[in-house]
Amino acid sequence: MSSSDTLRSRLTQLLSTDTVVYECRHCGTTCTATDADCPACGAAEIVTYRF
Ligand SMILES: [Zn+2]
Repeated sequence: MSSSDTLRSRLTQLLSTDTVVYECRHCGTTCTATDADCPACGAAEIVTYRF
């Protein structure tokens, strides 16, 4: 079953990957790890979500 193997490997990859999302708390713009301030509105409050 190649399709289930692919699905399983995809799931394993998703679960093992530590996805980090940076988002402006003020306007919701997605930022990068290097952004100290929001590039859109300049707010210094950037929240970090880990999945
Ligand atoms: Zn912002």
